[in-house]
Amino acid sequence: MQPPFPVALVTGSTSGIGAAIARRLSGEGYAVILHSRSSAEAGHALAAELGPAAYIQADLAHDADRVMLVREAVALWGRLDVLVNNAGISRVIPHADFAAATPAVWQELYEINVVAPFRLVGEAESALRAAAQRGRPGCVVNISSHAGIRPKGASIPYAATKAALNHVTRLLALSLSPDIRVNAVAPGLVDTALTADWTAAQQLWRERSPMRRAASPDDIAQAVAMLVGSDYITGEILLADGGLNLT
Ligand code: NAD
Repeated sequence: MQPPFPVALVTGSTSGIGAAIARRLSGEGYAVILHSRSSAEAGHALAAELGPAAYIQADLAHDADRVMLVREAVALWGRLDVLVNNAGISRVIPHADFAAATPAVWQELYEINVVAPFRLVGEAESALRAAAQRGRPGCVVNISSHAGIRPKGASIPYAATKAALNHVTRLLALSLSPDIRVNAVAPGLVDTALTADWTAAQQLWRERSPMRRAASPDDIAQAVAMLVGSDYITGEILLADGGLNLT
């Protein structure tokens, strides 16, 4: 028998933005399936804290791991209502530095930031469609970046993968409707371990953005929860940059 609570899989959720999303959805009554590439200890500890929750380790660079992750996630409680594709990687490369932006960098970023989310949605499709039979459409939220909307970002390969993810979001919203809604949140600068020493960006957000600060992981989790809470919104890329794009 299926549990009475909805189930959400959040990739890359043992740290940073993903952990905040997992905590938020748990607080809203979801059983949360945590995931990361390597930090299993942190994953199990967070799962014990959040319960009902579980942790699955998988390297999203490998297709067999992607398939295994969704299969094990669906098997845990026999249902999957929400998939948050948060796991992602970045490389900081000056935009004019062609030598550093090698084909290997392009390929690595594309596999994790674009191919993996697409494949996870494909593997989860039937479980997410089943959510619609229970009364609410299945829901996918991809964590993109403002760098996928404006000509900005840590590197051209990173920005291009996030632009591709935004387009994949809209294409999947069309092809999977009405059973599954697909949206994205595109954060600007978020205070995480990754960006702790990005002093120029921090100064930019403090001085130029209308909200006068970078986002916290909780700010992004709140935006994700808004999209998860809808029964109607699909194909949207929600820019969460504190208004920096307006300046
Ligand atoms: P983070 O490094 O704390 O989290 C990234 C997560 O992705 C980790 O849990 C890691 O395990 C997972 N991951 C990376 N490679 C993986 C792989 N091969 N297999 C499985 N998991 C893998 O970083 P974060 O800042 O919390 O970023 C989360 C998301 O937000 C990313 O998609 C990132 O591009 C996006 N984002 C972050 C910012 C920011 O300022 N921090 C801004 C815009 C967008």
